[in-house]
Amino acid sequence: MNVKETIEKLNELELQEFAYGHAMGILSYDDETVAPKGSVIPRGKTMGVLSELSYKLSTGDGAREILDALKEHYDELSPEDKRRADLREKRMRELRAIPVEEYVAYSQLVNDAANVWREAKNKSDYKLFEPYLGRIVEAQKRFAGLVRPDMDPYDYCLDQYEEGLTREKCEAFFKTLRERIVPLIDKVKAARPIDDAFVHVRFPIADQRELSQRLMDIMGLPRDNCILGEVEHPFTNGFSKHDVRITTHYYEDNFLSSMYSVIHEGGHALYDLHSDDRFCFTSLEGGVSMGVHESQSRFYENIIGRSREFVGLIYPELLRLCPRLAAHSVEELYRAANVALPSLIRTEADELTYPLHIMVRYEMEKAMIGGDVKTSELPEMWNALYKEYLGIDVPDDRSGILQDSHWSGGGIGYFPSYALGSAYGAQLLHKMREDFDVSGAIRQNELVKINNWLEDRIWKYGSLYKPAELMERAFGGPFDPKYYTDYLERKFTEVYGL
Ligand code: ZN
Repeated sequence: MNVKETIEKLNELELQEFAYGHAMGILSYDDETVAPKGSVIPRGKTMGVLSELSYKLSTGDGAREILDALKEHYDELSPEDKRRADLREKRMRELRAIPVEEYVAYSQLVNDAANVWREAKNKSDYKLFEPYLGRIVEAQKRFAGLVRPDMDPYDYCLDQYEEGLTREKCEAFFKTLRERIVPLIDKVKAARPIDDAFVHVRFPIADQRELSQRLMDIMGLPRDNCILGEVEHPFTNGFSKHDVRITTHYYEDNFLSSMYSVIHEGGHALYDLHSDDRFCFTSLEGGVSMGVHESQSRFYENIIGRSREFVGLIYPELLRLCPRLAAHSVEELYRAANVALPSLIRTEADELTYPLHIMVRYEMEKAMIGGDVKTSELPEMWNALYKEYLGIDVPDDRSGILQDSHWSGGGIGYFPSYALGSAYGAQLLHKMREDFDVSGAIRQNELVKINNWLEDRIWKYGSLYKPAELMERAFGGPFDPKYYTDYLERKFTEVYGL
């Protein structure tokens, strides 16, 4: 095969891989949103068949020939195709190392585990979920040993979500955060509490749905390519730049919860919606890593969404939909949206205490993968870490170890990317402010300026660069968590008048 033929074959292969991924993704989106309970059986079968076909496609002789041809012509390839070749080789190594029966059994396991986790969470009974979590941890350890015997198994897990992230980097990063954030939280705890009782006003769900649409307008989310679904635990599925699904969960007495979910998931969606056209249906389309993804979603949710300017921008809309809020000023609402207090639930946590929730999970994952703890002891470990890090008692498994869906889907190693993403976001803000008046753009409902800046530096590149390289290009220098800790210190010192 010459270069031209090789790239044509590669395009064809990646389109087919996209199609399997799209079909399986739609099935899980359907599962999370509208599918009846009984669908678990046929879906398990269909997922089994499709994942086997997709596995064979990506590891078979055809794919191997394409990879060999790519390597043979490597020096003649464009930078884009070189990156595709590198990604292919990495993926081929991973897939080939795992026997097909194990790969299929694992896909069935996580399908079952997701359903058992839901039931266990409803009943607040960890015992139901424990055997599944045990099998998932064992499978992850086994895969790590098969694919990268040279690597620390937890580094392998981290690398799945953030290429190049290691336990060593995490340790240094979390140490910096702990040193600056823990004393800050202590000061906030000693400060005069902020009254946020009024945000728990009854806000009918029909009106919150309208609020969501308004938020999507402000963020510039095109409805032809992005819709909002309702689920228990909000997430985003970005299938292609033409088809992105975001989700939220409404609570009648807590409109801020859904409002910030929509903004968070909307941030993920914007990233997926703005890959360069030439990457469509290739391995370069869509976000490069979970860390970069979370940098976009948490940037929107917190840095933009919880800014004084954004609260001011949405305030008239809130009064229109929920007139009882009129008894409170924009300033009161801004402060209420930024109450920082140690709490139980990660997804509801404030911007300041949030990284501590991540550190708990990081310690848990290290222990699970390192084999330092029995699965039966995990709830106890969880509760002890919440006491140590956040100073609070966990009353039950539902609001403790069962609160997140990640582990039930095999997502061990995912959590650190939330904290890393938050820190990336703060450094992006610093850089953005050198170029234009970010607060002014929000105040004037011109988020398009922010979108254009991010599209230019992050979104359009899809998966072309490795995550750390992409961020360094955007920052114009190395990553430094001090922008994040400075940002938190400035913001919460001001909000709490410390
Ligand atoms: Zn997210």
